[in-house]
Amino acid sequence: MRVQTMLNACQKFKCFVYKAVQLMDDGQTKYLDVTLVPRKNSQAICSQCGQPSSCYDRLEERQFEFVPLWGIKVYFRYRMRRVNCADCGVKIESVPWSDGKQTMTKALMQFLANWAKKLSWEETARSFHTSWHKVFHAVRYAVDWGLKHRELDGIESIGIDEIAWKKGHQYLTLVYQIDAHCTRLIWVGKDRTVKTLLKFFKFLGKEKTKQLKHICSDMWKAYLKVIKKKAPEAIHILDRFHIVAKINKAIDEVRAGEHRKLEAEGYEPVLKKSRWCLLKRKENLTEHQEAKLKDLLKYNLRSIRAYLLKEDFHGFWEYVSAGWAGKYLDRWCTRVMRSKIEPMKKVAKTIRNHKPLILNWFKAKKAFSSGIVEGLNNKVKVATKKAYGFRTYSCIEIALYHQLGKLPEPPMTHRF
Ligand SMILES: [Zn+2]
Repeated sequence: MRVQTMLNACQKFKCFVYKAVQLMDDGQTKYLDVTLVPRKNSQAICSQCGQPSSCYDRLEERQFEFVPLWGIKVYFRYRMRRVNCADCGVKIESVPWSDGKQTMTKALMQFLANWAKKLSWEETARSFHTSWHKVFHAVRYAVDWGLKHRELDGIESIGIDEIAWKKGHQYLTLVYQIDAHCTRLIWVGKDRTVKTLLKFFKFLGKEKTKQLKHICSDMWKAYLKVIKKKAPEAIHILDRFHIVAKINKAIDEVRAGEHRKLEAEGYEPVLKKSRWCLLKRKENLTEHQEAKLKDLLKYNLRSIRAYLLKEDFHGFWEYVSAGWAGKYLDRWCTRVMRSKIEPMKKVAKTIRNHKPLILNWFKAKKAFSSGIVEGLNNKVKVATKKAYGFRTYSCIEIALYHQLGKLPEPPMTHRF
C-alpha cells in the first residue's frame, strides 16, 4: 500500500492531490516528504474572500509539518499560488491544510493541542519531538478556533471567581457558566477590579446579560458593585464555597496565633499538626486526624471554640426556608461576637453585612449544585500548575480556555 492511500484515508482534499512521497534522510533523522499539487481543473481560492479565482503566479515551495507517522516526521511540500481575484486583487490562495500563518498543518496543531489537554505543554513537546513554542502555537490555534465557533446562547447561571497567579501577586477574574446542563469557563480577565468585570459584561452584551437568572460570586467589593449595576434582575448569590473559605481562613489565623502563644509560654504544643483536623469537615478526616481532634476537644482552647463555631455554621445550609436560615444566621453571628475571638468576629461582621445575598442561596438552591464553583476553582489550580513555565498573561489565558472552556473542535474526518 502506498503512503498516499493512507493519507487519503485520513485527510482527502477536494482540490489537491498527494502527488509523491519520498523517505528522506538528512544524515541525522529520517522524514517523509509529501508533495502536493492542485487537482486538475480545480481553481485556486482567494484567501481574502473565498472566491475561486484565476492563477496569477506560483511562489517558492513551502513546507508544512504534518502529523508524524510511526515517529517519522512528515512534511507537506507545496508551491502556493497567487490568485488574481476580481474583488481583492493579487492575493495568496487559501489551502485547506494550513491557516497560512503557521508552518504546522491544522491537523498537526489539533493533534498537539489534544495531547496538551492531557499532558503538560512541556511533556507534549517532548513526546512528539517538537518545541514548547510549537505546542503553544498549536494550543493557541485550537483555542482561537474554539472561541470563534462556540455557542454562548442560553446561559442562565454564571459564577464569578478570582485566582491568584504569579506567586500570588496578581489576580485573574474567571467567569464560569454553571448551568446544570453545561459547566465551563466562559471568560478570563486580568486583575479583579471594577474595570475587569465591566469588560466581561461588555463582552457578554446586553441581550445575553438579560438572560442571566443567577450570578454566584464571592464577597469581593468590586464584583458586588458591578453585578448590582449590570445585572440587577438576576439573583445574586454569595457562593457557599467562598463563605466557608473565609471561615476556614479565620480558623487558621486563630490556630496559628494560639500555637505560637502556647509555645512562647512554655505549654505543651497540643496544636502542632492540627491544621487539617480543624479545617476539614469531620467526615473527611483520616483515622489519625480524628483521634487528634478527639484529643484536642478536651482542651478549652480558642482554636477549638472557633472550630466548633465553624462546624455549627454548616447547619445553616441545611435549611429549606430563607426565613429560618436567616434567624439561624443571626443567632450564629451573635454567638461569634460574644466569643471574643477576633478573626472569627471579623467574619461574622462580614457575613452580617452580606446577609441578603447569602440568603439568596436558598432562593436559588435548586438551580445548581453548590460544589460547582469549588470544583472549577480546583480545576483551575491544577491547570495553572500544569502551566508551569507560563510567564505571560496570554499564555495562562489560553491554557485556561483550553482546559476548561469545553471549546468545540474543527470537524475532521480522521482523529489522529
Ligand atoms: Zn478575493
